Amino acid sequence: MDLFIGMDLGGTNLKYALGNENGEIIIKKSRPSQANQSQKTIFENMFIAVEELKAEAEKRKNKILSIGVGSPGSIDFETGQLKGSTPNLPNWAKAPIKKTLEEKFNISTWADNDANIMALAEARLGAGKGYKNILCLTLGTGIGGGILIDNQVLRGEHYSAAEVGHIIIAYNGIRCNCGNKGCLEAYTTAPAMVKRYQKKLKRLGLAYNINELNTEFIFQKASRNEGLAIETIAETCEYLGAGIASISNIIDPEVVIIGGGVSEAGDPFIKQIENEVRQYSVKAIMQNLKIVRAQMGNDAGIVGAILLAAENYSDDN
Ligand SMILES: [Zn+2]
Repeated sequence: MDLFIGMDLGGTNLKYALGNENGEIIIKKSRPSQANQSQKTIFENMFIAVEELKAEAEKRKNKILSIGVGSPGSIDFETGQLKGSTPNLPNWAKAPIKKTLEEKFNISTWADNDANIMALAEARLGAGKGYKNILCLTLGTGIGGGILIDNQVLRGEHYSAAEVGHIIIAYNGIRCNCGNKGCLEAYTTAPAMVKRYQKKLKRLGLAYNINELNTEFIFQKASRNEGLAIETIAETCEYLGAGIASISNIIDPEVVIIGGGVSEAGDPFIKQIENEVRQYSVKAIMQNLKIVRAQMGNDAGIVGAILLAAENYSDDN
C-alpha cells in the first residue's frame, strides 16, 4: 500500500501521522513543536517526525508517496513558503516548508494554512462530506476559517482568503489584534467572551474569581439560568450570526461547519447561532443552509494534511 505523511504544526505540538489516500490514519504521533525556538529547531522536529514515520512505513513494507503540512500563517501554495510571519511562532516567518522537506527527504511536499487543511478534512470526511460549497469556522482563542468552493479550497490571490475572523461586524467597533476595528474576532473569541462577561459582573458589583472565568464557566452558569451568562452567550451568537450571514451572503454555501473549543458548548449553542444567521442573511441563501458542528475533532489537522498530500500527489502524477 502507498502511504502519505500528514503533519500539523501548532503553537504547542507538532502532530504527525501516516495515512492512506482516503485520509485514514494508520499511525499517529505527537511531539512538542518548540514553536518559540528557532526555525531550525522547528524543522529539526519535523525531520524527526518524518524519520519516525518513514521507519514505520518501512516496517510495514509500504512506500511514502508525499508529505502534506499544515501550518499557521498565509502560505504560498505554489512555493510552499510562509508569506510573512505568524503570531504564535515568532521565528517561523517566511519558513520555506516545501523546499526544506523536499531537499531533506526527496519526497514531494505540499504546505497549506492550518485552517484550510482542517476545512479540507471536514469537507472530505467530516461534517461537510457530500457538499461542494462549504464555510468552516474554528472558534477558540482566535477564529480560523476555511472555504471550499466547488470542492476546491479557496486560497485567494495572496493565499490569505477566508480570514473570516476579520470580517467587520461593527463599523468603528472595538480594536482587534490585527489592528483594525470591529472585527468578528474582537467580539467572539473565548477571551472576548470572558472579558464581556467580566465587565457585566463588575458593572453590577458582583464578586468573581478571575482564575475561574473561562467560556466553560460561562456556559455552565448559563445552563443554571444565570442572567449575565445567558446574555453574554446570546450576544456572542448574535455577533457570530452577523459575521456568518455576511460571509454566506457572498459565497452562498451549502453548509457552515463550526468547530474549535467554544463549539464544544454543544448543539443548543449552534442552534442559537443558526437563529441569528437567519436574521441577517438573504432569504434565498438561508433556505437550505445547514449550520452544523465540526466532526473531525483533534485529528482534523493531520487528516487534512494527509489529504493535502494525497490529493496533490495524484494531481501531479
Ligand atoms: Zn481583525
